[in-house]
Amino acid sequence: MKITETIHVFKHHFRLALGENQYADRFVYSYILVGEKICLIDAGVWGTAPLLLNYLEQIGRSPSEISTVLLTHAHPDHIGGCLAIKKASSASFYAHPADKPWIEDVEKQYRERPILNFFELVEGPVPVTRELKEGNTVSWDKGKTIRVLETPGHSLGSISLFFEEEGGLFTGDAIPASGTIPIYVDPEISIQSIQKLKKVSGVKYLLSSWHEPVFENPITAAMDEGIRYIQKIDEIVTDLIKTMPPETSGEELSLRALERIGIKTSKVLHMVRTSFESHRKK
Ligand SMILES: [Zn+2]
Repeated sequence: MKITETIHVFKHHFRLALGENQYADRFVYSYILVGEKICLIDAGVWGTAPLLLNYLEQIGRSPSEISTVLLTHAHPDHIGGCLAIKKASSASFYAHPADKPWIEDVEKQYRERPILNFFELVEGPVPVTRELKEGNTVSWDKGKTIRVLETPGHSLGSISLFFEEEGGLFTGDAIPASGTIPIYVDPEISIQSIQKLKKVSGVKYLLSSWHEPVFENPITAAMDEGIRYIQKIDEIVTDLIKTMPPETSGEELSLRALERIGIKTSKVLHMVRTSFESHRKK
């Protein structure tokens, strides 16, 4: 789907394994920037890579024209399709140095952040040819500039990308979607990152991986909602810690917190436990 003449949004549907033969349906948005060259912002999962490449053909372009892939961070639903893109093009892959090791060594990511069906989501590693840091710019096409903002919290190396000429702000997973399972490593830094995003001027489109594209006025409202959601979880976890014995496991804490948020589950994934336990470290 087209947002502007240059920016297209692509929705990837995938499943996340919760246990044996138990799956949760998930989705992630990635973005295709179409000029003389093609730039992708995040690659989706392995399974949907052929659909993404087909989409390019549907709009009269060739996957071989992809020259740049900017990765907002290293998680499987953002890098899983990279190898398929690498095979179809001579694209270069860019990411923040803090998330680079998990992109170049996916076995390491799997060991350090286990996801049951990781290798169903990620085909394999790709080399990161350029490291992106705060204030760097990427001229992915003639007269088209992407500025890098470091927005850690969801992961240590999470970045947001501002397409200056068109006012598109790509935030990856930096802004949590209220009411969904929280995924971050540091709630306070996450809030600081969202506050930083609120200060970017000239934003016409908020293009996140978890939200439908947001236009103009509701943009700061969507960001405020993300901040309020993290604060609400902080209140819940702080309250639970007060009433539960200190030896309470992360699993138990997470289950109780999820219950209070209104999410019913009997299983807590490693990455979800990390989110709730990150509130405990304050
Ligand atoms: Zn993520």
